[in-house]
Amino acid sequence: MTITKNAVVVGGSLAGLMHGIMLRDNGYSVTILEQEPSTHRQGLDAGIRVGPDFIQFMKQYDRVKREYGIMATHAHVLDKNETIKFKVPWNAALTSWGLVWSILRANFDGQSSEAVPNPPPLPKDAPEARYRSGARVTDVQELNEVIRIQFEDILNGETQVVEADIVIAADGSMSSVRKIVCPSISCEYAGYVTWRGTVPEYYVDKEAHGILGKNLTIHRMHCSHFVIYVIPTDEGQITPGKRLINWVWYHELPAGSADLKETMTDIHGKVHQGTVPRELIRPEVWAKQKALGISKTPACIAQLLERTKSPFVTKIYENTSPRAVFMHGKLVLVGDALVKTRPHSALSTNQAAYDCLALESVLKGRASMNQWESKVLGYGHRLFLWSRILGNFQQGYKLALLWSIWKYVVGFVGLKLGLLPWRSKME
Ligand SMILES: Cc1cc2nc3c(=O)[nH]c(=O)nc-3n(C[C@H](O)[C@H](O)[C@H](O)COP(=O)(O)OP(=O)(O)OC[C@H]3O[C@@H](n4cnc5c(N)ncnc54)[C@H](O)[C@@H]3O)c2cc1C
Repeated sequence: MTITKNAVVVGGSLAGLMHGIMLRDNGYSVTILEQEPSTHRQGLDAGIRVGPDFIQFMKQYDRVKREYGIMATHAHVLDKNETIKFKVPWNAALTSWGLVWSILRANFDGQSSEAVPNPPPLPKDAPEARYRSGARVTDVQELNEVIRIQFEDILNGETQVVEADIVIAADGSMSSVRKIVCPSISCEYAGYVTWRGTVPEYYVDKEAHGILGKNLTIHRMHCSHFVIYVIPTDEGQITPGKRLINWVWYHELPAGSADLKETMTDIHGKVHQGTVPRELIRPEVWAKQKALGISKTPACIAQLLERTKSPFVTKIYENTSPRAVFMHGKLVLVGDALVKTRPHSALSTNQAAYDCLALESVLKGRASMNQWESKVLGYGHRLFLWSRILGNFQQGYKLALLWSIWKYVVGFVGLKLGLLPWRSKME
């Protein structure tokens, strides 16, 4: 008789769902604990890029088989007069968080949604797959052979406990599990924020759409830049003309400045540390930001700013964990909980897929946990340094750019020689 092992995944976003699907399909009974109480999650209505490892994950594990990506073939740099200064081949699949979440959720436990109205049946004889919404994990402890996970039921305040043979901490950049197992790590503010928003394609003039509607557009300004591309809606609308034009504005706001505080203060006077949600943005803050943007950008981008109904703003943070494996190989950090990069390489979702596919090799006996740890730390650390280079270049931070290139070279050589301190050993 085979005994089914139990896995608990902390966090039910993209990394959590990918790991849940992979573990279930490899014989584990899986429970995902997600603090957010709603069963159908709302994305930020903003874009993500899916890289090669995510595409590989979908080839192996997706049974929904619906389209989710919009392919860009080029990236171009636009000046203030709408002249294309530079154009390079850039192949990337772009999509929306909400659509990918719905597809993964349908694969995990068969939940239907507007994007996936008829999910395929779950694999025959598959072990259990449970997604518990409103379950906030508050503690993890190793008890001999198992891990005990304590969580709070958000709706009734009750504390509950489950046990697992393996725990996947996929609880994002502010990971509460990481705070327990690795308390010294803190998130560092990069010195700039992103304003983000979307405009339906049909709401953009023909001329502006002709410039922005096909490829990735970049517009650079002093210590600031825009990135613009087309994405599907969260509901899965992928037909040209019905999609969204997604814009991201990286804008410098030094740590501790009055402007940063003003930007991050919501309509109730609360100062947010991460994102000020769209419905809480103060109209006067957006009005000022919008006026600045309109005065500095080409007409097609100014039009997007004018026609965006509800933008939101997020502080850019970054951090890396020196270790990925804890509690004698029974607890691992993955995705943004392991390494949170600046968003410029747009590969956070790919990192989650990379971690997941590498863990599959451990489950199949093709690699050890130590090898998995070296692999995911190496990938995450390189991505972290590379994203800094891209960010410093796009923002025009010359000295910081030179410093980040130097750190990348040192990091790369250190990695090759196995000299980096974050290459840890399991206890
Ligand atoms: C609602 C939402 C919308 C997003 N939209 C976008 C987007 O539009 N564009 C983009 O580029 N990126 C977006 N992201 C971020 C993106 O998902 C990640 O950068 C990347 O895909 C890696 O994901 P992750 O699963 O590691 O981390 P995250 O996506 O940050 O997910 C972490 C999850 O863990 C949960 N969690 C945290 N603490 C606990 C706890 N103690 N107990 C239980 N659960 C916990 C969080 O609620 C969250 O669902 C979004 C994330 C979320 C949560």
